[in-house]
Amino acid sequence: MAVLWLEDVDADDVGIVGGKGASLGELIGADLPVPPGFVVTAGTYREFLEDAGIDEALFEAVAVDPEDSTALREAEATARELITETPFPDSVRAEILESYRQMGTEGDEAFVAVRSSATAEDLPDSSFAGQQETFLNVREADLLRRVKECWASLFTQRAIYYRQQRGFPHEDVDIAVVVQRMVDAEKSGVMFTSHPSTGEPRMTIEAAWGLGEAVVSGTVSPDNYVYDRTDRTVENVTIAEKKVEMVKDPESGETVQLDVEEGRRTERVLSDDEITSLVSLGERVEEHYGTPQDVEWAILDGDVYMLQSRPITTIREEDDGASVGSNTAAGDDGSSDLGGVVAADGNDTDDGHPSVTGDTGDAARGDAGGSVLVSGLGASPGVVSGTVRIVDKLDHLDQVEEGDVLATEMTMPDMVPAMKRAAGIVTDEGGMTSHAAIISRELGVPAVVGTGTGTQVLRDHGRVTIDGDKGTVRAGADEEAQPAEEFEPVEAARPETPVKPMTATEVKVNVSIPEAAERAAATGADGVGLLRIEHMVLSLGKTPEQYIADHGARAYQDELIDGIRAVADEFYPRPVRVRTIDAPTDEFRELEGGEGEPIEPNPMLGWRGVRRSLDKPEPFRQELAAFGRLIEMGYDNVEVMFPLVNDAADVEGVKRHLREAGIDPESHTWGVMIETPASAIQIDDLADAGIDFASFGTNDLTQYTLAVDRNNGHVADRFDELHPAVLQLIGDTIERCRERGVDTSICGQAGSKPEMVEFLVEKGVSSISANIDAVRDVQHEVKRVEQRLLLDSVR
Ligand code: PEP
Ligand code: MG
Repeated sequence: MAVLWLEDVDADDVGIVGGKGASLGELIGADLPVPPGFVVTAGTYREFLEDAGIDEALFEAVAVDPEDSTALREAEATARELITETPFPDSVRAEILESYRQMGTEGDEAFVAVRSSATAEDLPDSSFAGQQETFLNVREADLLRRVKECWASLFTQRAIYYRQQRGFPHEDVDIAVVVQRMVDAEKSGVMFTSHPSTGEPRMTIEAAWGLGEAVVSGTVSPDNYVYDRTDRTVENVTIAEKKVEMVKDPESGETVQLDVEEGRRTERVLSDDEITSLVSLGERVEEHYGTPQDVEWAILDGDVYMLQSRPITTIREEDDGASVGSNTAAGDDGSSDLGGVVAADGNDTDDGHPSVTGDTGDAARGDAGGSVLVSGLGASPGVVSGTVRIVDKLDHLDQVEEGDVLATEMTMPDMVPAMKRAAGIVTDEGGMTSHAAIISRELGVPAVVGTGTGTQVLRDHGRVTIDGDKGTVRAGADEEAQPAEEFEPVEAARPETPVKPMTATEVKVNVSIPEAAERAAATGADGVGLLRIEHMVLSLGKTPEQYIADHGARAYQDELIDGIRAVADEFYPRPVRVRTIDAPTDEFRELEGGEGEPIEPNPMLGWRGVRRSLDKPEPFRQELAAFGRLIEMGYDNVEVMFPLVNDAADVEGVKRHLREAGIDPESHTWGVMIETPASAIQIDDLADAGIDFASFGTNDLTQYTLAVDRNNGHVADRFDELHPAVLQLIGDTIERCRERGVDTSICGQAGSKPEMVEFLVEKGVSSISANIDAVRDVQHEVKRVEQRLLLDSVR
């Protein structure tokens, strides 16, 4: 038997029909309204490989060096060709088609969903899990091809990369394919039958128009309904602006994304009656499994259907009564995500990060809780104690040991490994947007920057306590300091309550070093609003030109690909905006090959951003080639962003380069940073030139609007991102962009400030990208402002 009907399988059949098939069969068995369907079993897949004699060739072809991008690409192509070019055995073909025909009605072919359903529990990595194929609205003509494509999706470059890298045998993963009648949903979404972190009897339902893919993929911000199962009341309703919906094109049967017409965008999706029906179904499923579930559902002609159900597996009580929830579903291929509700996957990777040491008992100097030695800007929060290690030169870096306090004039890109080892960081120079501040925040290492005299004053002090909140360095070790062994950088970034505030405005996160990707993803952000690549490039120790001269263009691309991929994987399928390089000449000059960099009186006003890229296109071309290769590898979540553009001529320039790199600016998402008053004032021209988004780089926009050098301590008190002139430029730009259908965002430091968040949400910004440690607060602030605006509009 090549196929099994869903009603004939249950939860014990994961090995035969995969996690998804087994779960659907179980629901049908419990009399829940699941659309009918069948499963092409995992055995059929395996027999297909073995009978055709392609199994050995397949597993051999994918056993490649995961760091070799060319080999990966070839492996995917070979696997795909082997699977898709090998014909089905006649009996299997006949059985699949015959089963399919039974689902149609007279004279009407059924539209079916064809979904991968992996049998191995596979790797506990959500980014891996999310990638096996699902095809919607498939008809007979395409059915067999789609089944094979599901099989082939076990061998995308990303999947091969992950299994190879983690030593997970390819032979151990099998795949079944669910073929299920489509519900041509009018509305759909997901629900948690109980509170996903505490297990309280409180249901959360997310709902949007059309097919559920829009919610599950995060394309649309859904309405959010909270139902109190004890009081039997709808406790909270948050209506989102649902700009798009996925529907079946009546002509082609394809799933298409349509703009929702104005009137329906802010209309409430679910009536009270529909909520009641969903609640009753949710309770039945929860009762059936005896554990809280997250359920995908759809409504058509007033009937509610359940499309999928998975346990919320990690509701757990912590010692302090706080709870952490996540929802990795055992046996599920995880091909759907949870539409914005945190789907943490129990990260256990303490990467050896020793960043905080406590030794709180050390009162050897007799000055625990002692006097303030120096103070500066609290650039990265946390209170830690450690032994001071002064670093004047890069070659002293290896002296920084785990738990030391690294004190230096200013951190450099090559210092990142030592910064990771350090318990805390103190610098003489630099402001809140300096290298030291950005990197220490991302690493979760407490830091005080811009102390002026830190390296001199601390030189003779053995042990100190850094307070990254107050911006002080005190003598001795003190009791507030957190012991190193209790500090886990990833866990520290994970919100205590995993239910993310549902907001219409997306809240994303900024990332500058790949090492921070896991921490950034743990925040539950909606994507990465700014991935800087200059830290990756500068840490090569050579200018891009020098690196290319020494190692070749391909090697340079590979370096970028590796760094970007670390982030794109963590966030997949959530979008990651990668910015082309923007380093000033004085930073390049520090690197090998940088001797010839021009000496500029004020590098901040000099040869940086796209002006340099357009003048000197060789390294720029390689950056774009790297982005192109990533897109080709399946990273369709990678978006391209250009820094420091001034006008439409700049935009036309970068567009030309995008095309030359094989990235079609019409079909791929790209945009620019608004960092100069010129670009804000000329936003209409930039919109005409075709940008998809405009992202405010307020660090630069502020310095250029107010003529205040962001790196100059003498004028630091005049650096005010909330200055009315800056706000006016931002507000006007948002207004123009809204009229032009261009998304707006902020990725400068100010996006983490509540006042700026309030201003932006009021103006209607599309997304806000914040620092890792600010994401959760920003989500709450956005929600608060959105709710106030809603209330104001009805009062
Ligand atoms: C900005 O200018 O606000 C920005 C995000 O870019 P960077 O800080 O890298 O110049
Ligand atoms: Mg900038």
